[in-house]
Amino acid sequence: MKNFFFFTSVLFFLGCNPTSEKKHNTVITTNNDKKVNDFAIIIHGGAGTILKKNMSDEKELEYKNKLEEAIKVGYLILKKGGTSQEAVMKTIQVMEESPLFNAGKGAVFTHEETNELDASFMDGETLNAGAIAGVTNVKSPIELAIKVMTDSDHVMLSGKGASIFAKEKGLEIVDPSYFYTERRFKSLQRIKEREKIELDHDDKKAAFYDADIKNAKFGTVGCVALDKHGNLAAGTSTGGMTNKRWGRIGDAPIIGSGTYANNKTCGVSSTGWGEYFIRSQVAYDISAQMEYQNKSLKDATKDVIKNKLTKLGGTGGVVAIDKKGNMSFEFNTEGMYRASMNEKGKLVLKIYKE
Ligand code: ASP
Repeated sequence: MKNFFFFTSVLFFLGCNPTSEKKHNTVITTNNDKKVNDFAIIIHGGAGTILKKNMSDEKELEYKNKLEEAIKVGYLILKKGGTSQEAVMKTIQVMEESPLFNAGKGAVFTHEETNELDASFMDGETLNAGAIAGVTNVKSPIELAIKVMTDSDHVMLSGKGASIFAKEKGLEIVDPSYFYTERRFKSLQRIKEREKIELDHDDKKAAFYDADIKNAKFGTVGCVALDKHGNLAAGTSTGGMTNKRWGRIGDAPIIGSGTYANNKTCGVSSTGWGEYFIRSQVAYDISAQMEYQNKSLKDATKDVIKNKLTKLGGTGGVVAIDKKGNMSFEFNTEGMYRASMNEKGKLVLKIYKE
C-alpha cells in the first residue's frame, strides 16, 4: 500500500506537474502569438520635408488616390489568400508606374542626367532576398529584384549585368527616356544651380534654393505585407537621390538597410537619406531588437528611427508589420506618404506629421 502511494506520487510528479506546466506554457505562447491581423499591408511613398503649406489640394488628392489605388491592389491579393510576395510586387508596381513617386517612372535624375534605379525584396519565410542597383532600362525594378531572388544564385546584381539578366528572363525593357519626367529634371537643374551659388558664396540665394530642393529630394516607394499563410515580405524601389553620381547606391537595394523580412519578427521597408540608413542597418536593427531584446514592433521602430538614426543625423522613416499583424509607421521628417490596411479592410491614409 505504501509502495502504491509512493508510485502514484511519483507518477503525479512526473506526469501531472509537467503537464500543467506545459499547459501553462501553452497558454502563454498562445497569448503571445495571438494575431492582431490575419493579414495586413502597409506602404510608403517616401519621407521628407512634406509640408501642408507647400502642397495644393489637388496634388494632395493625387497622392492620396494613388496610394489608395496601390494598397488596394495588394490588399485584394492578400484577401483572396495570395502570397505576400505577389502583394508586395503588384502594389509597388502601381507606384513605380506613377510619375508621382521617385521609383520607376518619376525616378530622380543623376548628376549625368540619367535615371539609375535600385530595388530590393525579401521573403520572411525563407530569408531569401533579391536586389538590383544602377539599372537604367528595366520597367519594373521590383520585379527584377524578385527575379534575382527566384531565378539566380545571387542576391544582388547591378548595372549592365542586371539588364542582361532582365532581358534573359523576359522582363519588360524600356528606353531610358521612359523614366523622364519634367518635374524631376527641373529638380536636378535647381540643385546644379544651387551648387554654383555655393561656389559664389551668395547665402541669400542659396537659402532660397535650399527650401525648394528639400521638397524635391525624396519619394522612394516601399511595401510590407503579411499573408494568410503567416508569411511576411518586404520590398523597396527607388531612383535614389537627385544629383547622385559616381554610381552612388543608396540603402534601398541593401538588404538589412532598406528592406528586411523575417517571419520570426517583422518586415520593414525604409525611405530617407540612404547613407545614414546603410550605416544604421535600419531595417535589420528593428528585427534584431525584436528578436534579441524582445521589443514590440512599436518600440523597436521608434528606437531605431527616433533615437538611433536621429542621433546620427539621418532623416527618413520606415513602414513595418510584425508576425502578428501589428503595423507601424515611424519617421523623423515633416511627412511621409503612407497607407495601411488591416484584415477588416480599414484604410489609414496619411501624409503629414501628426
Ligand atoms: N533612401 C533612398 C536613397 O537614399 C532615397 C529615398 O528614400 O527617397 O537612395
